[in-house]
Amino acid sequence: MEDVMTLPEFEGGNRDLGRLCLHTITTKSWDIFTALSKYAEVGIGGISIWRDALAGHHLSDVHGAIVRSGLHPVSLVRGGFFTSPSDSARKDAVDENKRAIDEAEALGCPMVVMVCGASPGQSLSCDLNQIQDGLAKTLDHAEAAGVKLTIEPLHPMYADTRSAVATLKMANDLCDVLDSSSVGVAVDAFHVWWDPEFDVEIERCGKAGNISAYHICDWKRDMDDMLNDRGLMGEGIIDLNSMSRKVDDCGFSGFYEVEIFSRYWWAQDQDEYLRKIVKAYQNSCPSPLVSAS
Ligand code: ZN
Repeated sequence: MEDVMTLPEFEGGNRDLGRLCLHTITTKSWDIFTALSKYAEVGIGGISIWRDALAGHHLSDVHGAIVRSGLHPVSLVRGGFFTSPSDSARKDAVDENKRAIDEAEALGCPMVVMVCGASPGQSLSCDLNQIQDGLAKTLDHAEAAGVKLTIEPLHPMYADTRSAVATLKMANDLCDVLDSSSVGVAVDAFHVWWDPEFDVEIERCGKAGNISAYHICDWKRDMDDMLNDRGLMGEGIIDLNSMSRKVDDCGFSGFYEVEIFSRYWWAQDQDEYLRKIVKAYQNSCPSPLVSAS
């Protein structure tokens, strides 16, 4: 498998943005080809591609555009949603995840982000068993494709329908059970900043070699929507400087992936927004400037 931690070389002034990656959902109104050219234009290093951005396009065309852009394809987002009271729905979920793995392979993305799922009415242990089972059934396909399944623990406010995996500890525990180099963890600042066990669990994750991805944005105190009002780095209360340093100290040297769902920011001029993202990254995440040099 391609080493996801190997960063592309950058020339001159672009070098300090080498670890910056954007999720296409962050600039949702841009189609995949516009996003690729705009991101490349400002000199950032990577792109994480949401599957909805692929709709209506041939994967080979998108792959060609990625190669021409010089951007590093980081993650395909997203797979998972393994839970359901229905046997056939759980089987369909495994098949859908295999398709996501195939897409990631075709695009050269080394990992698929796993939002593991949760089903109202099922117990937590039932959800977790189904998630473990779904991941296990998907694993052979991922290994064969050389694509990593990165389990993303979600903030517990999403534990109703999106993810029963609500802490870094739960993601680490799943990795231990699955015991495969094709499984890792996506650490998202928005989801884990509050966790009193973060320091212990990020060290554990690092020691196991499982910090596969790091997502950043900010948590606004006056958030008016629990899904679509995430903050640009510096707009909220997450101490990204400390968290980023900690994640790096635990052995991570991959991309800093900006993933912001925000009706406010989506409605702004996207070129201006992109410039603000670059600035916010440089202001609030100083450690990559050190590590990337
Ligand atoms: Zn994320």
